[in-house]
Amino acid sequence: MENFVFYNPTKLIFGKDQLKSLSDEIPSHVHNVMLVYGGGSIKRNGLYDNVVNKLKELNVSISELSGVEPNPRLKTVRRGVEICKENNVDFILAVGGGSVIDATKTIATAAKYDGDAWDLVTRKAAPADAIPFGTVLTLAATGSEMNAGSVITNWETNEKYGWGAPPFTNPSFSILDPTNTMSVPRDQTIYGIVDMMSHIFEQYFHQPTNAPVQDRMAEGVLRTVIETAPKLLEDLESYEHRETILYAGTIALNGMLQMGYRGDWATHNIEHAVSAVYDIPHAGGLAILFPNWMKHNLDHNVDRFKQLAIRVFDVNPEGKEDREVALEGIEQLQAFWASLGAPTTLADYDIGDDQFDLIVDRAMKRGPFGNFKQLQDEDVQQILAMSK
Ligand code: NAP
Ligand code: FE
Repeated sequence: MENFVFYNPTKLIFGKDQLKSLSDEIPSHVHNVMLVYGGGSIKRNGLYDNVVNKLKELNVSISELSGVEPNPRLKTVRRGVEICKENNVDFILAVGGGSVIDATKTIATAAKYDGDAWDLVTRKAAPADAIPFGTVLTLAATGSEMNAGSVITNWETNEKYGWGAPPFTNPSFSILDPTNTMSVPRDQTIYGIVDMMSHIFEQYFHQPTNAPVQDRMAEGVLRTVIETAPKLLEDLESYEHRETILYAGTIALNGMLQMGYRGDWATHNIEHAVSAVYDIPHAGGLAILFPNWMKHNLDHNVDRFKQLAIRVFDVNPEGKEDREVALEGIEQLQAFWASLGAPTTLADYDIGDDQFDLIVDRAMKRGPFGNFKQLQDEDVQQILAMSK
């Protein structure tokens, strides 16, 4: 393992009816709250009214940024920054999924920065301050509710990047009531499951390799998600299964699993490049790309893929070559995601190879990437070709 310091400043408030704690969590000196949300799901399921009623009890003035799109865009972030400045916003409340929370993180920091928000996303400048913010999560997927990451798309230049600057981009609190995720439709539920599993894979393929406690924790969360996902898809309104998946999504990417090593993150980087060119759901892209990233890198460290196959997918190694066991694990993953209803090829999104050069260019913009196995242009080309 490498030396590490673990610090996560987000207060996690988990469970039924926890929205009631909102009034205690927003500091009493706050006067102007900006509410950030997406395309209206919170209005349809009643959460919007509940949140606004809670805020009204605090006697604060409320401004709003609505319409944050999935794969949140820079222009929306800029609109949010203007609203903050016009209204002297001193607290932001994000109510939604990863997109709403990610947009909020960049707005919170850009509102305290003199230049343009894109400088922060591209790391041309580092934030020195932020408007504090909290979240009410409505979708189990990204872990954004308890990490510092924010992923923003510049649609004008076809660039989508993840960035973060702890502690400025860490939520001060996140309220996770599984009831608020009951209305997540089937497709988004599937994407969320694929995303959280992918986050664990990005960490499972790590350097340096010796991290046995972390491995077992990662395998435990993966097995639980694999066990629970089909049951949840059978009964989308099961509180128990929503609860399990919601907690799994947070644990998958709140830093608990990634102590003492560097995760890989190459597949996320390629997916960001794909969805910067084609506006597809993040985890739809991951479901297609991840098994192919695995196959592409299988021979780099067969043992690691074999461990995953045996411990997570229960592949029986008896009488088989290591490589065969490892490959069987990857194929089981592919079959599992397909059984949930996730896409399996880029063609499922009508994506051909005509923009592959642009995707590779965008993926390589910050140079070769991947900590488990560093990827060059040709690796990305090959993984895309395998994903067609
Ligand atoms: P999302 O983009 O926030 O939401 C997807 C869709 O689900 C939206 O249409 C949203 O509607 C709807 N939805 C959300 N909650 C709902 C509910 N309770 N009931 C009904 N519909 C609901 O999805 P996400 O997967 O959470 O976030 C994806 C983004 O996060 C991508 O941009 C991805 O790159 C990024 N990401 C970030 C991190 C990180 O660590 N920060 C990690 C991985 C991925 P509304 O528009 O009405 O809200
Ligand atoms: Fe992700």
